[in-house]
Amino acid sequence: MKTILIHGPAGSGKDTQAELLSSKFGFQVIGTGEMFRTMFSEGDIDAVTAHRSWSKGFWVPNELTYKMLDRWITRFDNSKNWLFVSVVRDVGQIIMFDKFLEKQARELDKFLYFKLDEQTAVERLSLRRVCINCGAIFNAKYKKEKKEGYCDECGTILSQREDDKDYNIRQRLLEDQRTIEPIIEEYRKRGIYIEVDARPGIEEIHEEVIKVLNL
Ligand SMILES: [Zn+2]
Repeated sequence: MKTILIHGPAGSGKDTQAELLSSKFGFQVIGTGEMFRTMFSEGDIDAVTAHRSWSKGFWVPNELTYKMLDRWITRFDNSKNWLFVSVVRDVGQIIMFDKFLEKQARELDKFLYFKLDEQTAVERLSLRRVCINCGAIFNAKYKKEKKEGYCDECGTILSQREDDKDYNIRQRLLEDQRTIEPIIEEYRKRGIYIEVDARPGIEEIHEEVIKVLNL
């Protein structure tokens, strides 16, 4: 069984790639976004605390995130391939992720980074619409919803995230770039870093991912 971590700037399509790996190769996708939303809706006390940060667009403190992840992971099957999405987004989380995996008796096989230039990211994100109810993401050019303006999954009216507006996108990409560099550096040192060009279309990137992961 494989243990993969993926990351990439907003607009790099990492969530779409995660969905494909899940549906075609049976990866269980584990990400903090879904964890925060689900546990919050269940009234989990730590999630309520975390909500104060993420509802305002701030990062949830690392300790709190990993405390929740220890419980969230019990819902997944440890005999399956695991794909972690953006659970290491701060250099301080590397060691926490190491310990977390150790408790699960697993080891990280690869860290995939979906690299994207600023112009493409801005173009993609400005076309992005999200469902605030279930977290589904659509894009007018790359992944259009079936009924315009409504979520395919749950029928909620789609909206544009405040930080997907042009000015905010550039700010966020700069921030992403600054925080990801030391993480890339560490995984490169460990020999498990793989960079994937996120500019092509969804299928093409998927083919590349299959190749680099030997699936
Ligand atoms: Zn929805």
